[in-house]
Amino acid sequence: MKTAINVIRTLEDAGYEAYMVGGAVRDFLLGKKPDDFDVATNAAPEKVKELFNRTVDTGIAHGTVLVLLDGEGIEVTTFRTDGLYTDMRRPDSVEFVQSLEEDLKRRDFTINAMAMSEDLHVIDLFGGKNDLKKRLIRAVGNSDKRFQEDALRMLRAVRFSGQLDFEIDSETLASIRRQAHLIRSVAVERIKTELDKIFAHKHTARSMAYLVHSGLSSNLPAGTLFELDWSNYKSCGDHSMGWCYMLYRQEKKIEDIGDYKFSNDEKRLMAKALEAARLEEWNAWTFYVFTARELAIARFLSGRDVDVQLAKKSLPIQSKKELAVTGNDLMHWSGNKQGPWLKKWLADIEQEIVFARLENNKEQIKGWFSHEYHRHA
Ligand code: ATP
Ligand code: MG
Repeated sequence: MKTAINVIRTLEDAGYEAYMVGGAVRDFLLGKKPDDFDVATNAAPEKVKELFNRTVDTGIAHGTVLVLLDGEGIEVTTFRTDGLYTDMRRPDSVEFVQSLEEDLKRRDFTINAMAMSEDLHVIDLFGGKNDLKKRLIRAVGNSDKRFQEDALRMLRAVRFSGQLDFEIDSETLASIRRQAHLIRSVAVERIKTELDKIFAHKHTARSMAYLVHSGLSSNLPAGTLFELDWSNYKSCGDHSMGWCYMLYRQEKKIEDIGDYKFSNDEKRLMAKALEAARLEEWNAWTFYVFTARELAIARFLSGRDVDVQLAKKSLPIQSKKELAVTGNDLMHWSGNKQGPWLKKWLADIEQEIVFARLENNKEQIKGWFSHEYHRHA
């Protein structure tokens, strides 16, 4: 917050207007710590770049410059209105405008359309403060029109309802119901971003109820997957958990939601979490081979009552690297040359140690190995 205020002061000292806007104002008024700070100004992007030493052109075409100051990044956007969203990804063009009012008008919901000056004075042209008090998500202006401009806003309403634990205003919701089909034209990456946020925030069940009952879900790729009882879903903060929850509950595979693009990391995490959840029994080996993150999701999916952290900590070793012996030791003890046999024996030793049937100690392992090796030779 201090850094954002410093950015605003610098712009004002240079003769421009500047305000904190969007989510940061909303969160500040709710007494929450904002994730990031957005500043809006009437200074053109080139002017913003002149005024600060370190800037990045993150969204220069849309008037956004990232200002790096005191180890923080503050997005500074020139007052603008949005052009058409013909590809439903981003506006085709933006038009810089001189007044804050016009900039606030283009924003999606009243609670997201407030500005705050450096002295913490709030500019609230659409009743955002009142809606915060009533805990309502309400579109700025005519909701039908606003959703026609950018249909993603319908899904954003659903997302914010769960993020903030707010209701969607009845007019705004009726408009979503009427126009839910428009979501079909929105790029799937934008949709996935919002769904990911829904799965990671606190009140997923509330968002999911809106998603299904507004008619949005049936217009989304793999829409029927969302129609589940979400009341017991409790996010661990990892968005992959939501996708896993649907797949697990409906006995589906990742390929069944192929319309959404997942990164390799996401795919791996989901596949592993599902694999662990579907295991009949969990033992020391399970805690050894799966990561804490995979197990946190799997534990929730399969309703297991275990302390993953503790179970992991109690393991004799955490990874192969901690083994007290190497392949060289085994070659030395057996007098045998390098070959595939080594890998197999190391794996056996690893397993004996993980199951605590053998101590991870060179002498003990030597004794066990010599005995077993000769028994099999
Ligand atoms: P969060 O805390 O989840 O980041 P946020 O309000 O900052 O919430 P962002 O998606 O980061 O949400 O957007 C920043 C601001 O930009 C919003 O508060 C809103 O004013 C505006 N905005 C973002 N996306 C849209 C959109 N599709 N249509 C209209 N306004 C939008
Ligand atoms: Mg934000």
